[in-house]
Amino acid sequence: MPSARDWNEWKEAAASPGVDAALRTLYAGVEAAAHLRGPRCEASGRCCKFNTHDHLLYVTGLEIAWFLRQAGEQKAATEPGYEAQIQGLRLPVLSPRQLPDGCAWQVDGLCSAHGFRPLGCRVYFCEKGTEDWQQQTYEKFQTQLRALHDLLGLPYGYMEWRGGILDAARMA
Ligand code: SF4
Repeated sequence: MPSARDWNEWKEAAASPGVDAALRTLYAGVEAAAHLRGPRCEASGRCCKFNTHDHLLYVTGLEIAWFLRQAGEQKAATEPGYEAQIQGLRLPVLSPRQLPDGCAWQVDGLCSAHGFRPLGCRVYFCEKGTEDWQQQTYEKFQTQLRALHDLLGLPYGYMEWRGGILDAARMA
């Protein structure tokens, strides 16, 4: 897992207007690419119930730091039972399956962090037959995200979403 120093670097970068603008531009590109394909979203909430639907979301540490900054500023709602679920966790968590099933920001089946959700959330759709272009789009923008870290001289950390959020909270 990342060190406290890594988290501090990502946190500082996330507060920089240049990084903020770069991430927003990259995410807008992902949205536009997905929009061109016109996938169907039935707002079933399946995409954010990871254990139930056997699906994992991976993100970078910089994305988590930026996301948490936006969530704090915009006071995004979190799922009411989430705090109790994470307090019941036995640490260290050895497998994503030990983590709460859903994302903390999914409230009543909807994303309360829609405007600042990470790359993986923007490109994942559960509609059958969309897997190939999702993978290609994901790889294209993940490569750009990686290049942004290199450009900024930031450490690169790639991690499972819920575990990364817990780790960032522990380091805060
Ligand atoms: S940030 Fe939003 S879209 Fe992404 S996993 Fe959480 S609730 Fe789902």
